[in-house]
Amino acid sequence: MKQQYDVVIVGGGPAGYAAALYCARAGFTTLVLEMLGAGGQMATTTTVDNYPGFDAGVGGFELAEKMQAGAERFGAESEFAEVTALHLAENPKQLETTAGNVAARAVIIATGAAPRKLGLPGETEMTGRGVSYCATCDGMFYRGKTVAVAGGGDTAAADALALAKLCKKVYLVHRRDALRASQSYLAPLKAAENIEPVLNVTIDALQYDTHFTGLALTDKATGAKRELPCEGLFVAVGRVPTTGFLGGQLALDKNGYIVADETTKTSLPGVFAAGDVRTKALRQVVTAAADGAVASHFVEEYLMS
Ligand code: NAP
Repeated sequence: MKQQYDVVIVGGGPAGYAAALYCARAGFTTLVLEMLGAGGQMATTTTVDNYPGFDAGVGGFELAEKMQAGAERFGAESEFAEVTALHLAENPKQLETTAGNVAARAVIIATGAAPRKLGLPGETEMTGRGVSYCATCDGMFYRGKTVAVAGGGDTAAADALALAKLCKKVYLVHRRDALRASQSYLAPLKAAENIEPVLNVTIDALQYDTHFTGLALTDKATGAKRELPCEGLFVAVGRVPTTGFLGGQLALDKNGYIVADETTKTSLPGVFAAGDVRTKALRQVVTAAADGAVASHFVEEYLMS
């Protein structure tokens, strides 16, 4: 990693690498900072069916590798490091990372969103030992077992259907008396013989000793308490944007997303927000990638002005 770049992009998902491709191709020195690996959340998706150009779908990890390689073909660089502090109002902007400090004339924030936690005691301790946030990644560890999925949205529905192919039994545990998942998921959920909805319940506690053993539930209608024995819990209760590291330097909406319209311009000049981390109506791979391209357009306008 050099000491200064025209553009530093924080986050190497579809938004980050699309921005990197466009910026590098436009001739700007470009660095992508990524914490774990290319692709972000997309890399944990088995098959991406709704990204145009792949008539048989494409693996999320494979698409991530292609996006990274596509950007690096034009000279974009990648560094695996965590941003520990940034000074976005300065010119050039300064970023402190676990791989050293770097300066940038313009910054694109493309850090996406991470799974929301239930916030129950033991949840962090049991993550990877019975509690998971990614059915695609961890489902295979529960082959032939009984698991629960928490949540009532599309992710919970998709996870329950995927797990039902591997597991003996899947409980779909939701806090309301109806799922909010799209219509297209409801018929397959009903048809799956080994999926049992457990609706209108509160999850009071995770039960575990050395292993995960189940959930303690309360029926919201009757107040009755019960235990739900299971060997794993997949939490699918939405996402929270990765914006805590910004330290209040950019305007955020009430849910913590960076306030930025279709131009991807944030509340600070020379700082742009692309992908799931930005206020927007539809968070998909294709909209994230589109944001990256748009951000590069306004980065160029900013750097040339
Ligand atoms: P979501 O739509 O926000 O649903 C989150 C679910 O978790 C809701 O049912 C919510 O309950 C529940 N929940 C939230 N906080 C909770 C808590 N603390 N305790 C218990 N339950 C809690 O999130 P998502 O399912 O991850 O979907 C996110 C977006 O991605 C959506 O736009 C979705 O359409 C999209 N997506 C699309 C696909 C696809 O196949 N096209 C697949 C996955 C996701 P309430 O219902 O009570 O609010």
